[in-house]
Amino acid sequence: MTEIIDGNAVAQSIRDDLVASIDRLVDAGQRPSLATVLMSEDPASETYVSMKQDDCEEVGIEAIDIDIDPDADAAELYDTIEDLNADEDVNGILVQMPVPDHVEDRSVLRAIDPMKDVDGFHPENVGRLVAGDARYKPCTPHGIQKLIESAGVNTEGKDAVVVGRSDIVGKPMANLLIQKAPGGNATTTVCHSRTENLAERTRNADILVAAAGVPEMIDGEMIQEGATVIDVGINRVDADTEKGYELVGDVEYESAKEVAGAITPVPGGVGPMTRAMLLYNTVKATGLQHDIDVDLP
Ligand code: NAD
Repeated sequence: MTEIIDGNAVAQSIRDDLVASIDRLVDAGQRPSLATVLMSEDPASETYVSMKQDDCEEVGIEAIDIDIDPDADAAELYDTIEDLNADEDVNGILVQMPVPDHVEDRSVLRAIDPMKDVDGFHPENVGRLVAGDARYKPCTPHGIQKLIESAGVNTEGKDAVVVGRSDIVGKPMANLLIQKAPGGNATTTVCHSRTENLAERTRNADILVAAAGVPEMIDGEMIQEGATVIDVGINRVDADTEKGYELVGDVEYESAKEVAGAITPVPGGVGPMTRAMLLYNTVKATGLQHDIDVDLP
């Protein structure tokens, strides 16, 4: 029987545990707070930000909502980040990507105080992750580690294949999988748009993480019998639905689930975990900034 890994349930259990840590921080006089900065009118970005704010409020994290006109000067964004860096009542800062073309995204990531960088994208935090001394693990790959663990799958000594090499998913995922640490110790291959014989490589995977952003590109024939399959993709494809589209992953779910030992659905797999791990990092940040010990799930 293939195990369907329930991301909603795992995320809920993480949120429940975080509530206890948040209570402890509040008792110590430090309610965690997360500032989200949106410089975009893209409906998807607006939705992501409002979901993150709702998530915060649900667990007792203060959500600070900052909107910047997408036509504004880049300086306005940098000034905002500087103010948030200096504000002791702000524990986490998240600038929703993408920013407009006239703003250089790498400079934005570098402008955020690394102690408040709850996305884990500042070069200092990336470096720490690579060096095996992570402060804030990026939310999506960290959530995937938790999902793999929840399925009772030990990564140690396994062949892991990550399809995708982006800075937010593929690269940090591979870095976590190779670390000499729980959830790591896997022999890890990273595939990308220039990889030859992709199917040959994915068929070798005991653990397959698909993060290419190509709808249903991995089918059952590309998967090893019994493999753990994590589908990161969220792709809109035209469909005869009320909205005119549906969401599909990078994995062709129906054929993959016949072969996989465990698999995440889309939606309801990785997505909820990404959101839960942002709360995790915000709680962790608050503890670190105020030197308060907090238990983390
Ligand atoms: P990206 O476009 O930045 O990177 C995609 C990567 O896939 C690239 O490195 C590219 O080399 C590789 N790739 C593209 N086509 C390929 C192919 N045919 N064969 C092999 N490799 C190929 O995307 P991203 O930001 O890493 O996101 C990937 C997917 O995951 C998207 O669908 C995105 O919406 C989704 N996503 C989901 C979550 C979540 O929480 N569930 C979070 C982040 C991203």
